[in-house]
Amino acid sequence: MRLILLGPPGAGKGTQSARIVERLAIPQLSTGDMLRAAVAAETPIGLKAKDVMARGELVSDEIVVGIVADRIEAPDAERGFILDGFPRTVPQAEALDRMLAGKGMHLDAVIELKVDEEALVARIANRAAETAARGEPVRKDDNPEAFKIRLAAYKAQTAPLSEYYRGRGLLCETDGMAPIDAVTAEVEKLLQTKSA
Ligand code: AMP
Repeated sequence: MRLILLGPPGAGKGTQSARIVERLAIPQLSTGDMLRAAVAAETPIGLKAKDVMARGELVSDEIVVGIVADRIEAPDAERGFILDGFPRTVPQAEALDRMLAGKGMHLDAVIELKVDEEALVARIANRAAETAARGEPVRKDDNPEAFKIRLAAYKAQTAPLSEYYRGRGLLCETDGMAPIDAVTAEVEKLLQTKSA
């Protein structure tokens, strides 16, 4: 099964992806995680992405598409994958379509977590506080200033993907404001209809 989780920062894409991973035994491909690893390892891509990410802006399509193209070639992605944080622009979505078509593959579903903007600001503040309380380093872009930019980038560049995928009959909307377990239950129901 090849899935995309769509939704603004703080919508719960990471949390829900982790649960789908367990259920379907397919890998979660998070471009954010891959980029953070590249930044930590100070690879050439990491060095290019570091400041852009800290500001909350989007890394170039070229870099991100290259990372995903490599990652979906890995053996563990053969049976499927969940993309978390990719695509984030229409050109990225078009590049993904081409990549999959070139491999004779297609997407099964795009699950959008619909959330209210006010709640997101609180969620991000919460995530930062909980991470700090665990003694773990807080993401550089989990602060109100970078968050505003991330949300603006989402609205301007990523939100058009809902229509892109709706037009292809792939979009499944879910209420991301429901409690975490209820969202998971809704997502699982959706997945059942897709695999039926
Ligand atoms: P995330 O962990 O998905 O919130 O991503 C964190 C940051 O990584 C984003 O704010 C961007 O700077 C960068 N990033 C992650 N995925 C992408 C993508 N598909 N396109 C461009 N930038 C991305």
